[in-house]
Amino acid sequence: MILPAKYVQGEGVIGKLGSYVKQHGERPFVVAGRTSFSKVRARVQASLLAAGVPIRGFDDTVTECTRAKIVEIAAKAEEKDADVIIGCGGGKAVDTAKAVAESLHVPVISVPTQCATNADGMADAVIYSEDHKFQQDLFLSQGPVLVLVDTDIVARAPPMYLVQGMGDALAAAFEKPAYAASQRAKKGADLATSAALEVNMKCFSTLMAHGIQAKKDVEAGRLTESVEAVVEAIKLQSGFGFGGGGCAAAHATHNGLTSIPGISRKHGEIVAFGTLVQMVLEKRPMGEVERVMRWCHELGLPIRVSELGKIDRKDMFLAADKACDPGDTMSAMPFLVTPKMVLDSIEEVDRLAASMFP
Ligand SMILES: [Zn+2]
Repeated sequence: MILPAKYVQGEGVIGKLGSYVKQHGERPFVVAGRTSFSKVRARVQASLLAAGVPIRGFDDTVTECTRAKIVEIAAKAEEKDADVIIGCGGGKAVDTAKAVAESLHVPVISVPTQCATNADGMADAVIYSEDHKFQQDLFLSQGPVLVLVDTDIVARAPPMYLVQGMGDALAAAFEKPAYAASQRAKKGADLATSAALEVNMKCFSTLMAHGIQAKKDVEAGRLTESVEAVVEAIKLQSGFGFGGGGCAAAHATHNGLTSIPGISRKHGEIVAFGTLVQMVLEKRPMGEVERVMRWCHELGLPIRVSELGKIDRKDMFLAADKACDPGDTMSAMPFLVTPKMVLDSIEEVDRLAASMFP
């Protein structure tokens, strides 16, 4: 079971960042995206200064988590003699920060500024090429020492981020059990704990119970119980205990789809579609698929192929083929999945969506 060492969530908790950083180092270096850092920079600096651990340096040029970016920022942080890295922003920034910390052998703290992914608490970094093609899931030796989620900050980010995060978190309820079943069948050493699986199921029930309300609340600028519940579902529960592993068909389908031209949706949105594909692959009861599809539709998550972007149907087989790449997480399904099965399931999802929402 792999977890961040500490998870803190609440309104205004960014004010405590400095005192937490102080427990791990004296020379913090911030890795961030430009827009996200501009929104929290003053509060981050003030908190660090007040705790007597002022920012040693920062790099806010992350636009993609690439190998080149990791090497470039690691060199900068090393030059500043940084002894703790703070990743500030969305998934790309925190993933870059975690990889930089790993290469410098120093602890990392995640300070998300939005809720589009659960990358903050994970012990992995997803590496992309400059043109956003998935390259590698880099597994790290440990998770962040702290994930600090200020709900006042993440709830003020554009509501689409919360929806994307819910799409990504949705996959957990299906991928984690699939992954765990295949590990058990392989008699592998990395068996998932029942505690981790239990929390992932809690994530699913939270999303179903509070997801739609939470979207309405953030759109209206309200920080409510539903928002707090959904933020925790995304940031803590969805990856709980898996540290970056535990993906299966939903993410493999995402990786296949993003390898072809024309996809215009974001990670969590495509993963939500991939979750529907996984549910069909698993031959789940139609009522269950319809329930999740209705929930996705109500949130504005894609349920039709045409909603994913302008895709040439001829490329779909390439996407299905890539989804079944032996190096990808389709192999974590507890049964053999072929490209033809992926293609058929995508078409089945599309047909069902067309019949439910003509
Ligand atoms: Zn994901």
